[in-house]
Amino acid sequence: MWNEADFRRIREQIGRLEPEMIEMQRRLVALPAISPVSGGEGEKAKVEYLAGVLRSWGLEVTEYRAPDGRASGGYRPSLTARVKGQKPRPVLWLMTHIDVVPSGPKDLWQSDPFQARVEDGRIYGRGTEDNQQEMVASCFAVKALLDLGLVPQTDVVLMLVADEENGSDYGVGWLLENHDLCRPDDFVVVPDAGNEAGTLLEVAEKSIAWVKFTTIGRQAHGSTPHHGNNAHRAGANLLLRLDQRLHEKYNAEDKLFSPPVSTMEPTKKEENVPNINTIPAEDVFYFDCRMLPQYQLTGLMEDMKRIAAEVAAEFKVEVKVEPVQMAQAAPPTSPDAPVVRMLAGAVRDVYGGEPFTRGIGGGTVAALFRRRGIPAVVWGRNEGQAHKPNEFSVIANMVGNAAVYAHLMGQGPA
Ligand SMILES: [Zn+2]
Repeated sequence: MWNEADFRRIREQIGRLEPEMIEMQRRLVALPAISPVSGGEGEKAKVEYLAGVLRSWGLEVTEYRAPDGRASGGYRPSLTARVKGQKPRPVLWLMTHIDVVPSGPKDLWQSDPFQARVEDGRIYGRGTEDNQQEMVASCFAVKALLDLGLVPQTDVVLMLVADEENGSDYGVGWLLENHDLCRPDDFVVVPDAGNEAGTLLEVAEKSIAWVKFTTIGRQAHGSTPHHGNNAHRAGANLLLRLDQRLHEKYNAEDKLFSPPVSTMEPTKKEENVPNINTIPAEDVFYFDCRMLPQYQLTGLMEDMKRIAAEVAAEFKVEVKVEPVQMAQAAPPTSPDAPVVRMLAGAVRDVYGGEPFTRGIGGGTVAALFRRRGIPAVVWGRNEGQAHKPNEFSVIANMVGNAAVYAHLMGQGPA
């Protein structure tokens, strides 16, 4: 554990490194790592620059190349950079992503999105906050320790990954599938989301079920409904029955989440007939369900099909129930997991405030670790600038977050 004097020296050193951090941001902004899916070349040039810097600091750098014929060089590179600790395990992984999203319409920007502009304590440019703020902060947390000759409690590995913005199939998803990197007793921090105070620690997510319901009846003239069978009426009944019955059954509460319940919402409605005087033969609507992780989506689908079968029999229609997206939530990281307690402690040391754990509505990259039984926590003190025009990073956040990571590296599992 660092003592008070170490903490002071670390913070002073990080303060001295601020100009170098800003310089790294400048270089990174000018190397846009945009996915081929979004019309870019991939991460090769940016990774070459980063690997060069990290090697020049004396870190053990390894590059991993996921084959992708569409990208520059024919691959999507990710990096690990290891710092030896007093003990090798558990490894503390700090994962940030190299890729950025496109700028969007240039006329919404007040300056070139790929040329950093430093003004009023902020760095403007695409990628400055998402995710370069945390990438630079975690790299310079390590640099500060190296400069001071401080050795982390356990091995620390910076993991800089490709393809986060488009599903991670060529990034951390591919890495975990093809290389034996993280173990269940390791600690993973993903600094890629959070709040302005830096108090939010995200540890869990809900399952996602998007379901399409199609009701098929028989078409007729609006004045002679008895010659047809109104699919819209049957569909409307089905919608209300689903809404009531599912909410009655899936009613558990978990205060880790906001809202603390499963949400089951009828959302999209497809057009049935273009004119008012036709009895519709087909009716289509969708539900977007975000379920607490304790519920199995297979059970939810069975219940939906059972209710649909009832309506089909009652209204003499055919009803199809089809999944559009089904993502069973990864098991949550316990709010009491050592990595969560360690990070909360580091946040308290640097920023004060009372950190709290939260689950979100689904879809974070941390789930890739949690599914493998590796505890992972998502954090960041940021301004929520991701993907916006005129994206910026607050320099004080970049520097402060570097101090949080350096504090974290001084804590071992209790
Ligand atoms: Zn991001």
